[in-house]
Amino acid sequence: MSLLDDYAQICGNDVIAHLQQLAAPFHGARVVHVNSTRVGGGVAEILTKMIPLMQELGIDASWEVITGESQFYECTKGMHNTLQGNQIHLSDKLLGVYERTNAENAESLRESLTEADFVFIHDPQPAALLQHFPNRKGKWIWRCHIDASHPYRPVWKYLRKFIVPYDASIFSLAAFAHELPHPIYLIPPSIDPLSDKNIELEPGAVRQVYEKYRLDPERPLILQVSRFDRFKDPIGVIEAYQLAKKYLPSLQLVLAGGEATDDPEGGVVLGEVQEAAYGDPDIHILLLPSDAHLEINALQRAADITLQKSIREGFGLTVTEAMWKGKPVIGGDVGGIRLQVINHHTGFLASTPEGAALRIRYLLYQPEKIREMGEKARVFVRDNFLITRHLREYLALMVALLYESQDRIELSCSSLNQEIHDL
Ligand code: UDP
Repeated sequence: MSLLDDYAQICGNDVIAHLQQLAAPFHGARVVHVNSTRVGGGVAEILTKMIPLMQELGIDASWEVITGESQFYECTKGMHNTLQGNQIHLSDKLLGVYERTNAENAESLRESLTEADFVFIHDPQPAALLQHFPNRKGKWIWRCHIDASHPYRPVWKYLRKFIVPYDASIFSLAAFAHELPHPIYLIPPSIDPLSDKNIELEPGAVRQVYEKYRLDPERPLILQVSRFDRFKDPIGVIEAYQLAKKYLPSLQLVLAGGEATDDPEGGVVLGEVQEAAYGDPDIHILLLPSDAHLEINALQRAADITLQKSIREGFGLTVTEAMWKGKPVIGGDVGGIRLQVINHHTGFLASTPEGAALRIRYLLYQPEKIREMGEKARVFVRDNFLITRHLREYLALMVALLYESQDRIELSCSSLNQEIHDL
C-alpha cells in the first residue's frame, strides 16, 4: 500500500484526491527544502514526512541541510532569540560568519538550487543563500516558523534585506507576518499522524515508559516535551507543578527534552532546570536522544495533561502532538499555541505559573473534563493540523506562484479536463 493510501485511511479519499489534483501541474518539478538541522525541532519533524509525501505525488522533492561552525549557530540562535523579542546585539564578526557560512553553503548547493523549480528556505539560518543565485531558475519562498511578532528591530532590519528578494514568504499566523514587497502566505504547521511520534501505540508501550522512567501509573502525571530553551519556560513549569503539588501531593512531572544540533544554549538551560528541580524525586528530567519518537509518543499518552508553558512560541508542535493523543493542553497564551488551545475547549491558556497550577488542579479533580476536552482537542487537530492540510496549502501556494501573472487561477481545471476526457 502506498503512503497516500495510508493517509486516506485517516483523512478520507477526498483529501488525497484533492492533493493529487493540486500536484498535477508539478509532476517531475524539482522542489528543494533547505533548513539547518535534520533532527531536533519542529522544522525537521515536518520535513521528514513532507518530502516523501511530495515525492509520492510525483514531485521531484528533496531536502538539503546547511552546515556551519559553532559561531554560525551562535549567531543564528541569536537571530532566533531576537526575532522572538530579545534585545541582543549581534556583533559584526558574528554576522560576518553568518554571511560567509551562507556563501559557502551556496557553493555546495549550487547545482541543486540553481535548477530547482521551487526552493523553500526555512527560517533565518539559510535566508542569505538567495543572494548567491542571481541565475536562479525557480521561485524562492522564505518560510518563517518563528514567532516574529515583536522582533528586535535592528536584527529584523538586517535580515529583511536578505528576505526582500524572495518571491513569497510564509508565516504561521497573521500576528507574525511582516510587510514585505512580495506575497505573504499564512500557513500553520502540522503533525504527521503516521509518524512514530504520533502513531497509535499498544498499551504495553505506555507501560514500558512508566517502568523505564520509574513513573507511578497510579498517580497523576503532567508533562512538558521541549528543548531546554528559556522561551519554553521550563522553570515556570516547575513552579506551576510545585504550586499544584501543595494540593495534589501525589503529582508527578516529566520534563522531556533533548538537543537540537543547531541550539548551542540547551546545556546552560538544562543546568538551570536541574537546579530548580533539585531534591524532588517526583520531577523527572529526561534527556532523550533525537530519535526517541516512540518514547515521546508513549509519554504523551501516559500523561494526564500536557503543558506547553512557552512565553514565545512559533507554533508548538508538541501542543498538536498532545492534542492528537486526546489530551487537553495547558499552554502559554502566545503565538501558535493560541491557534490550537481554544481556551476552555481544547485546553487552557495560562500566562503565569499560578494560572497554570489552577488549571492543573481543575482538570485533575475532574477526570471527565480531561476526557471531554481531550476528545475535542483530537477532532480539532484532525480537522486543522495534519500534514495533509499543510501539504495542500504548500501546493496551492505553488500553483499561485506558477500562475502569478494570470488574472484568474483555475485550481480544479486539470481534473475537469480529465473528467471530460474520460466521458
Ligand atoms: N522533540 C523531540 N525531542 C525532544 C524535544 C522535542 O523529538 O527532546 C520534538 C517534539 O516532539 C516536536 C518538536 O521536537 O515534534 C518540537 O517542535 P515545537 O514546534 O514544539 O518546538 P521547536 O523546538 O520547533 O521550537
